[in-house]
Amino acid sequence: SVVQVGPPLPMAQHFAELARRVIASGRPELLLEGLPPALAQHSARALLIVPLRATQRTLGCICVYYGENVPNAPDRETVALFATQAAAAVESIELFTAVRTARDQMASVLASTREGIMLIAPDARVVIANAALHQLCGLGQQATRDTTIEQFLAAWERSTLYPPEDWAALRRGVDDVLAGRESFVTGALTEGTGPVRFVEWTALTALSSDGEVPVRRGALLVLRDITEARESERLREDLTHMIVHDLRSPLASVMASIELLLRGVSGQLNGSQHHVLSIANTSAQQMLDMISTLLDINRLEAGRMPLDLKPCALPPLIARAAEQLASLAHDRRIVVQLDLDETLPHISADGGLLVRVVQNLLGNALKFSSRGSTVLIRAYASEGDRRRAIGAAQEDSSPSPGAYRPSPGAITVSVSDQGIGIAPKDREKIFAKFGQVGERRGGTGLGLTFCKLVVEAHGGRIWVESAPGSGSTFFFTLPLQRSQ
Ligand code: ADP
Repeated sequence: SVVQVGPPLPMAQHFAELARRVIASGRPELLLEGLPPALAQHSARALLIVPLRATQRTLGCICVYYGENVPNAPDRETVALFATQAAAAVESIELFTAVRTARDQMASVLASTREGIMLIAPDARVVIANAALHQLCGLGQQATRDTTIEQFLAAWERSTLYPPEDWAALRRGVDDVLAGRESFVTGALTEGTGPVRFVEWTALTALSSDGEVPVRRGALLVLRDITEARESERLREDLTHMIVHDLRSPLASVMASIELLLRGVSGQLNGSQHHVLSIANTSAQQMLDMISTLLDINRLEAGRMPLDLKPCALPPLIARAAEQLASLAHDRRIVVQLDLDETLPHISADGGLLVRVVQNLLGNALKFSSRGSTVLIRAYASEGDRRRAIGAAQEDSSPSPGAYRPSPGAITVSVSDQGIGIAPKDREKIFAKFGQVGERRGGTGLGLTFCKLVVEAHGGRIWVESAPGSGSTFFFTLPLQRSQ
């Protein structure tokens, strides 16, 4: 584009080529001969083209026509000086616009995040703080203006009731990051009394992203309101507490009373009375089991179920689970086959929980299969893992069972039935809490959730493969110990 000053001349199109040449070379040109005819007509005698050179690139050029005098050296220098200053001015404006755009973008990011963010310079000055931070601390904008992090924290501390040790931890965290002793420290301000907010804080090294090597630019303090999370954790605890004390204990005493009646403590029962009480007892037991499973699920989800990890051999655990369901299998005329590799390496696991996982899977297999069918439980490892476990010197020539598809570095357990199967769309749903699908319901929908949480707490995976109408196979893996 051309900006023209002075009497209008129809020249732009005539010297565009010349201008382009000067911009490309970055060197001024003075034309005395061969001026474009349109200029000659306007009695122009000379044309001086000077590039507008900025630090990074040439921004354009200035073209000056001389009608009477051909420019001498000082004239040319004056134009060159003007061009230099004009280029510097244009460059500053471009730079300013870029900085302003970046600042506006940064400001909108800071304004729209829910986390409170504060940038602290290496000398502990507060550089910037967003609106969420002010809101979270309940302090106005002036609390972060022309201040140091220490002054800000002192003002914040005066207006809240968090305990001194929480403040000390926050101060230490920020100091450590500012001094470069740590790059990431996190903690929380909690335990306050009265209507306070619970705040989780993170102090991390602020790095500049320009250049190849990141440079430390102080610390970033990020605050997050965890009041709601705390509240739902408290509700979860209250609910668990309620289940344990308000439901489990009375239910246990109902069962104890039924037990006494069944034993004839208050007189001999006739056949029909015995039958009715037995039904009540079975139902109460189911309720108690459901409450226990719910409690376990709650603890596993909250990561508060301590695993009693010990070196375990899996085949005996599986055999024990099958043993416990043998009478149910017998009643339903279902054959339970075990195909357990006795040379499997030991794993570090909570044996009690794993027995319950296998019981759940086997229980479902029995429940969703028809009379006379077979349920098969297998436990196997990859050939390499198996060899390593029984000793490298001891060569084993038995072929690796292809259909088992073992996962390397883990033991795989599978429970296959010939039952009703599970539709593809339901294969995720059944692992969710209370997830029951299909026509045949009546359980709790908690068994598979429990299995999934236990297997995952051991670092394994659980899934199902199924062909509706011709059975399902549930698989779960348990990682082998690292040393093996
Ligand atoms: P529950 O068996 O108490 O209902 P689970 O969590 O153990 O709860 O199972 C959830 C649902 O998954 C079951 O209700 C059933 O629809 C489906 N399911 C589980 N195992 C099988 C199986 N072996 N065959 C067919 N469906 C199954």
